[in-house]
Amino acid sequence: MDNLDISTIDGLRILKIDDEVLLAHQIKPPYYFSCSDGLILLPRKRGNQKTVILDLNIEPHLINQINELYGPISDYVCTHGHMDHIAHVYQWEAIGAEIHAPIPEHTYLQDVHNFYKGFQFNEGLDFSIIQKFADLNGYKNCKEIHPFEPGKSFFFDDFVINTIPFKGHSKAHIGFLIPQEKIIHISCLGFDQVRPDVDGFGPWYGFKECSINQYLKDIDLAQSIFLEKAEILTSSHSYIIKNPDITPFLYMREKIEKNQRIVDEAILSLKLVRTSEVSIIDFLDMDLFFPKKKMDKFRYEIYNFWESGIISKHIERSKYLK
Ligand SMILES: [Zn+2]
Repeated sequence: MDNLDISTIDGLRILKIDDEVLLAHQIKPPYYFSCSDGLILLPRKRGNQKTVILDLNIEPHLINQINELYGPISDYVCTHGHMDHIAHVYQWEAIGAEIHAPIPEHTYLQDVHNFYKGFQFNEGLDFSIIQKFADLNGYKNCKEIHPFEPGKSFFFDDFVINTIPFKGHSKAHIGFLIPQEKIIHISCLGFDQVRPDVDGFGPWYGFKECSINQYLKDIDLAQSIFLEKAEILTSSHSYIIKNPDITPFLYMREKIEKNQRIVDEAILSLKLVRTSEVSIIDFLDMDLFFPKKKMDKFRYEIYNFWESGIISKHIERSKYLK
């Protein structure tokens, strides 16, 4: 990797993508879903006069140090309402940034009840579990959010940032295209290899609102935008990719196919033939995706909820159940 490492803050890796764009990564998140990598857009002669931050959800003491080093920061753009993208955004607001978040998940930054109901946790889990989940990840609410429709373009003193809806992952989920710098940031689409030799989970579709069909379209769209309009690809949980390397797209499609094979094999081993015979509990007992049997009760409940979302989507698509 030839991106210059210019890290000077303890606990944070900062890579220079070009003169005015940096990718930052918190090295040790305090909990499973508390952080995401994001971009720092430094001020430029013809363009944004103040620093703009894209979806860099890191702990408050690191936010303060970024502000000292690269501030003042005028705006912060959030990509969607998952916990690893909203937990610490309140601190960006506290240091004076205007917070922008996509509709309809913008309200999740303001109240954890909205996060609870919005992702339909209320259909399977007590609120107390989600409150604990939010607390463990360091969530605090923002005061004021500027909502925007996914697909909107931002103009920061004439510097253009396009947002791209990738709604298979969540209703609000967006990526960014920075046309001037030829950078696409695909956010949480599902390329989660931190290094080429390290495997990850891949695309995440554990909520009811997620859609595998939409996901496959999003992956195609991201690939065509990358190949046609960008030189560099970044994301919330991965290493940096250069055009024409299409590893992320092959990886994400393969992960979805592999998940389908896992569920198909479970269907065959359970000897089910009709959708009416399916009980999701039989599948959950098999620990197909997460080692739930090894988890404490709190984590078990959450992972069980997500796994049932993932399995149901593959049951719907299975050629073995009609
Ligand atoms: Zn996400």
